[in-house]
Amino acid sequence: MPVGCPEPRQLQDLLLGHLGESASVRMERHIERCDRCTGVLANLTAEDSLVEALRARANVVLAPADQNAVRALIPRLHRLHSTATSCRKEPLP
Ligand SMILES: [Zn+2]
Repeated sequence: MPVGCPEPRQLQDLLLGHLGESASVRMERHIERCDRCTGVLANLTAEDSLVEALRARANVVLAPADQNAVRALIPRLHRLHSTATSCRKEPLP
């Protein structure tokens, strides 16, 4: 690693906004002139996108199961509701 290159972890901190302003500016100036760090940064953002995609996918995987469970419940709820209303003796408002 050439002298002066920040660690990948520091680049990640920069992406996440964990660095102070002066450190961020210093690092950004370095990255502008450093192809290596630009590549590392591109990889880091790609990984973040991948993680986000995986998270989104996890939600999508869970949602259909939930929807099916809810869909299966709806007819039962309707039956319960009609039973409850037909048993109800008090007059409607
Ligand atoms: Zn560098």
